[in-house]
Amino acid sequence: MSIFYSIGLSALMAVVSVAAPAQNINVIHALTAYEASVKKMPDKQLVDIQKAIPDITLDIRYATSNNFMKRVMYPEARAFARKPVVAQLKNIQRELRTKGFGLKIYDAYRPYAITIAFYEQASDKNFVADPKKGSKHNRGCAIDLTLVNFKTKEEIPMPTPYDSFEAAAAANYPNTTAEQRKNRDFLIQTMQKHGFKVLSNEWWHFDFIGWQQYELLDIPFKAL
Ligand SMILES: [Zn+2]
Repeated sequence: MSIFYSIGLSALMAVVSVAAPAQNINVIHALTAYEASVKKMPDKQLVDIQKAIPDITLDIRYATSNNFMKRVMYPEARAFARKPVVAQLKNIQRELRTKGFGLKIYDAYRPYAITIAFYEQASDKNFVADPKKGSKHNRGCAIDLTLVNFKTKEEIPMPTPYDSFEAAAAANYPNTTAEQRKNRDFLIQTMQKHGFKVLSNEWWHFDFIGWQQYELLDIPFKAL
C-alpha cells in the first residue's frame, strides 16, 4: 500500500491546492538555488535538447491542447534535460540515424507545479506521478519519446498513441501486432543500451539511471 492511501483526502487536497511541496521531499523552487547546485555539480545543468541535437524532432504535447489534460500546460514548446541525459540522447540519435530512424520527444523536464496540476486532474492516477514523491521528469531525468523515420519524420507504428491510459501502453504488453512489438522492443533495447530504463506501464517513458542524484525542480522554462 502506498503512502498516498494512508493519508486523508483532506490532507491531499491541502497539498495540491496550495501547490506546496509535500512533506519530506526537497524541491528546488528558486533559480539561485538551482544555479548554486549546477556550480557544485555541472552535470546538474538543464540543457536545451533541440540546441544540443538539432536533428531531433520535438512534439511537445503539453505546449498544445493535444494531451490528456486537454489544455496548454507549458508556455513554450521546449525540451530540457540534465547534461548527461542529453549526452546519451545524442549518442542514441547518432546510432538511430545510421538505421534510418530518429527520436521524437514528447516531454522531458517538467516543472514540479505541473506535476501537481496533472495529479489533480488525471482520471487514472497510475499514469501520473504522486506529488508526494514527485516525478523523474521534475528531476530532468525522464524523457517521453518515440521513433520516427529519419527522413520523413513520420512516427513508426507503436502499440498505442502517446499518453494512452490503455493496458496496451504497458512496455511488455503482448497482444500487439508483430510490427508494433518489434518497434517498441527496438526502442526499449536501444534506450537501455544507453543508460535508460523503460517505465513498466508506459512504453514511451524512460528514466535515466542515476536519477537519484538530481533534485526535483520547479524552475519554469522561461527562466532557463
Ligand atoms: Zn513520462
